Amino acid sequence: MRSVTVKTRCETFMGVRRMDTHSTTGSNQQIGGADSIAWIKLSSIFLPLKTPISDAKVLTGRQKPLTEVAFLFAEIETRQGHSGIGFSYSKRAGGPGQYEHAKEIAEVLIGEDPNDIGKLWNKLCWAGASVGRSGLAIQAIAAFDVALWDLKAKRAGLPLAKLLGAHRNSVRCYNTSGGFLSSPIEEVLENVEQSVAAGIGGIKIKVGHPDMNVDLKRVAAVHDRIGGRAAMMVDANQQWDRPSAMRFGRLMEPYNLTWIEEPLDAYDVEGHAALAAQLDTPIATGEMLASVLEHASLIQNNSVDFIQPDAPRVGGITQFLKICALAEAKKLQLAPHFAMEIHLHLAAAYELESWVEHFDWLDPLFNERLEIKDGRMAVPTRPGLGITLSEQAHHWTRGTAEFGKRA
Ligand SMILES: [Mg+2]
Repeated sequence: MRSVTVKTRCETFMGVRRMDTHSTTGSNQQIGGADSIAWIKLSSIFLPLKTPISDAKVLTGRQKPLTEVAFLFAEIETRQGHSGIGFSYSKRAGGPGQYEHAKEIAEVLIGEDPNDIGKLWNKLCWAGASVGRSGLAIQAIAAFDVALWDLKAKRAGLPLAKLLGAHRNSVRCYNTSGGFLSSPIEEVLENVEQSVAAGIGGIKIKVGHPDMNVDLKRVAAVHDRIGGRAAMMVDANQQWDRPSAMRFGRLMEPYNLTWIEEPLDAYDVEGHAALAAQLDTPIATGEMLASVLEHASLIQNNSVDFIQPDAPRVGGITQFLKICALAEAKKLQLAPHFAMEIHLHLAAAYELESWVEHFDWLDPLFNERLEIKDGRMAVPTRPGLGITLSEQAHHWTRGTAEFGKRA
């Protein structure tokens, strides 16, 4: 193939004279110039919640109420002064483990080209290969991966959604935080009003109470209160067996729900497939899965109508995009779990119209707020993810570690 040179320039950078030859077809492209990762800062931040949170996993005795969320933040800077920020998180346990694992592997990124995100994900994975390619090990990698994508988008001067190739400038959003099982029904109904007034497009409530009649009454009351002003979903957090899920699903058909979430154990691929085949109401799951391969199993076995990956839980944006490619090929709908600050960009870049989960829990960590209007969340026009850490976040920081040197 003949190489066509379109631009040649000489420049001096940090005392080194370099010639860049930009070619449309040759293999010697140097567009963007060489850069390398100079400095990384990891922070372990614990976000307290205003009130302890309970879903069905608590009412069935499997977990304690949630009182805080552990975050692992990674800040990366390059020799040329570009920067990115990313995060991973854990609920109840695992946060200190993510932070410790990240500290052990961070050094391998120093000196690397921040553009080579796929290569760097593999390098981080190999650095901790003996602890596997799913779960906590890759959730530690997620913080670096998200920071590298943020850096790349900032460097391009684009919101992350635009860098990835956006299909839309806003995404339908729904609210979960008003419908926990720990909230009395009067409070849930008041939260419905507040969410609708705030322009949120869907209301999700928790079900999976040990007494199914409690669920049925709450669903009926919330459905009546919404009165068609917003979409409605329910989330059982994996607390039913197969017969209970099928029975509940059939009772839900008249409500025209947008989806039933996590009716079964997160790894029950066959059980979810049976529900998806036999119920009109769409089935959603995937938030608890911790790798691309685990999601691939759900997708290949027709277990879901809505796939619900969580970028920090599956190892970051690089892995999330692989799940999206598999899901798009099956024409599945997408409703990422939690972390709207990341997932808004990823949902905007998904081919089919998606839903993003509105949680205001993380608001105190960041200086910026996401705009909601007419049932949709607007993709920020700021470059990258469009987030910066607040002073409050620094106040909640329990540990930091730095690698390399700031340029
Ligand atoms: Mg859920």
